[in-house]
Amino acid sequence: MPHLLPVGIGLSSISSMHNTRSTSRLLRASRPELNPGVREVKCESSVSFDNSKYEMNSMKRKKLSRVLELNGEHPKKEVDIVPDIEDFRYDKIKAEASISTDGVPASSIRLEKKVKVSSVLKVVAPENWEAVLGGIKSMRLSGEAPVDTKGCEKAGSLLPPKERRFAVLISTMMSSQTKDEVTHAAVERLSENGLLDPDAIVRTDETTLANLIKPVGFYQRKAQFIKEASKVCLKRFGGDIPDSLTELLALKGVGPKMAHLVMSIAWKNTQGICVDTHVHRISNRLGWVYREGTKQKTTTPEQTRMSLEKWLPKDEWEPINPLLVGFGQTICTPLRPKCVNCGINTLCPSAFKEPSSPNPKQKKRGLGRT
Ligand code: SF4
Repeated sequence: MPHLLPVGIGLSSISSMHNTRSTSRLLRASRPELNPGVREVKCESSVSFDNSKYEMNSMKRKKLSRVLELNGEHPKKEVDIVPDIEDFRYDKIKAEASISTDGVPASSIRLEKKVKVSSVLKVVAPENWEAVLGGIKSMRLSGEAPVDTKGCEKAGSLLPPKERRFAVLISTMMSSQTKDEVTHAAVERLSENGLLDPDAIVRTDETTLANLIKPVGFYQRKAQFIKEASKVCLKRFGGDIPDSLTELLALKGVGPKMAHLVMSIAWKNTQGICVDTHVHRISNRLGWVYREGTKQKTTTPEQTRMSLEKWLPKDEWEPINPLLVGFGQTICTPLRPKCVNCGINTLCPSAFKEPSSPNPKQKKRGLGRT
C-alpha cells in the first residue's frame, strides 16, 4: 500500500524520529490542506512504527529520570560544548563527546556539531521568485557592496589553491559579528606578517595573533580558535583545511554557516546554503521561507536554510549568499530598508512596511516617509 512520505527520508532517519512527530508529519503529508505549500509526493514505503516499543522506551526514560532526580542529578543536564561565534545560535546535535586536536587519528576524533540535513519535502516555490531574484541580480550588477571586494570569497584570491583555502577558512572564522571591511583588513595584516599559514600561526603566541586581528569581533576567542584550527590543519590535513562539512564543524569556532561557506568557496563543493543575518532577514521579508508546516516566519538561520533548500534550485545555492549579503548591505538594510530605491518594491510583500530611509527628493520637498 503506497504511503505519502517526505521524499528522501530513509529507514535510519525515520527510526530516529520521535514517534508522534513522525506521525504528525505523515498526517500533514497525507493531508496537504494542513501544510500549505507542500506538494504531495508518493513513494512506496515498507516502514512501520512500533508503538509498544516507543511506549516501553518512554517508561524506561521516565524511570531513569526519577532515579537521577532522587540522586540529585538533573536528568536533562547538558554536557558543556564550545559555542560558535556566529550571528545566531544554531541547533547542535551532540554526537559522542569532546574534540581533541593534538595528533589524534581521524577515526578517533569525536564530533559535537552536526548540521541538520533538510528533509527534502518538496515545497512549491514562492510565486514570482524568479522575477524577484532577477530584480535583485540587476540591482547588484554595480558590484558596489563591501562583500563584492572584501568578502570571504576574496580572501587570498592571488594565492595558490592550498594557501587560498587556508586564507578562506581563517577569513570566514573572523567574519562573524564583524564587517567585511574589518575582516578584510585583518586578513591583510596576517598576510603582511606571513601568518596566512598554519605552521606560522602555531608558532605565534595567541596574544600577538589577537592583537593583529583586533578589532575583529571577539578577537581574543577567535585568535584562540584560529590557533587550534591551525594545529588540526597541520596535524591531520598536511597543512590543508578539512574537505568535509563534518570535519569543518569539528573545528572550534566553526558553525554551520561558516562550514557551508568554506565548502562552497574553498572546495567549490556546495552542500547547503550559507545563511547569515542578511540572507535570513531578506528571505523572510520576501516571504521566501516559513517554519515547517506553518506560514510563520523563520526565527533562526538554520530554519531559513532548511526552508530555502526545499525549493531554491541548487545552482543558486552558492551565489545566493553574496547576492543577498550585498543587497542587504546596500538596499534591504536591517534598519530603514531603502524600499523607495528598490527595484522589486512592487513584488516584495514587505515593501514600505518598515520605516524606510526617505527618498532624497521627497526629503527636499518635505515629503519623507515617517
Ligand atoms: S522592497 Fe524594501 S523590504 Fe522589500 S526587498 Fe526591497 S528594500 Fe527590502
